[in-house]
Amino acid sequence: MRRNIFAVLAILFALPVFAQAPARPLIQTTKVDGTEGVYIFRNGGHQSMFIVTSDGVIATDPIAYGRPTGGADYVAEIRKVTSQPIKLLIYSHHHYDRIAGGKAFKDAGATILAHKQAKVRLEKLNDPFTPLPDEVMGDSKVIRMGGTILELSYVGLNHSDSTLVFRLPKERLLFLVDTVPVGAFPGLGMIDFYPLEAEEGMKQILAMEWDRMIPGHPGPGDRLGTRSDVQDQLNLLRDASDAVKVAAREGKCWNPVESTMKLPKYESWPNYANGLPYVLRRYCGLWGRGT
Ligand SMILES: [Zn+2]
Repeated sequence: MRRNIFAVLAILFALPVFAQAPARPLIQTTKVDGTEGVYIFRNGGHQSMFIVTSDGVIATDPIAYGRPTGGADYVAEIRKVTSQPIKLLIYSHHHYDRIAGGKAFKDAGATILAHKQAKVRLEKLNDPFTPLPDEVMGDSKVIRMGGTILELSYVGLNHSDSTLVFRLPKERLLFLVDTVPVGAFPGLGMIDFYPLEAEEGMKQILAMEWDRMIPGHPGPGDRLGTRSDVQDQLNLLRDASDAVKVAAREGKCWNPVESTMKLPKYESWPNYANGLPYVLRRYCGLWGRGT
């Protein structure tokens, strides 16, 4: 037994330096600085916002895809902070990595709210781990609970066709999932991305009053997003779009664009190497195919 422990230790110490950094717990809840009751719940690489008010809790995205206990873990984390009833669970959009696992919230008595297009999609897919929304909304809705004001806006097609922008006007905070990767090059999410409409949506987001943004995945060093992150992402998408458009009209999509094009201005961004093929394919789809 003891020898086994030493063997494990020997392996651990033989690993490169990055592997020796203290492991962060899989499940973690932190309060957002400068707010009275806004929290970030994290499960692995995903995070959601919940708000504790004097009249109940508003939660977002269970983020329990592939994690059967994720929904219950999230409810348990909320229970460590407050005994207020969980009244509302709001889906940011219909992707399962965000919204699987809502049963624990239903069992706790929450009503599920989502954009109407999320329900249309979920009804067809009938996923056993994803309860359908109880209520749906269109372009905008304001939630008032215990002195908290939460504005929900649909700014059109972008990362999905059902994405909501969450804004807390008093706190000047946004919760925006997947649409603007904070400090990172976009990647896999480009597969069902709506490029032209997303640019318009980002302009609408920049026209809103806010200072900090809670992203759906932690930013570098766990930092929150800023208005500059949105502008930088918009610039990146425009640069990628412009570059591929020229090549596509010369008949270079899918190749040689996919095999040779680079975007050197962004090569220092995290996820550049992984994400570039997805970005090029999406814009070849747009300018080389018309989709
Ligand atoms: Zn998504």
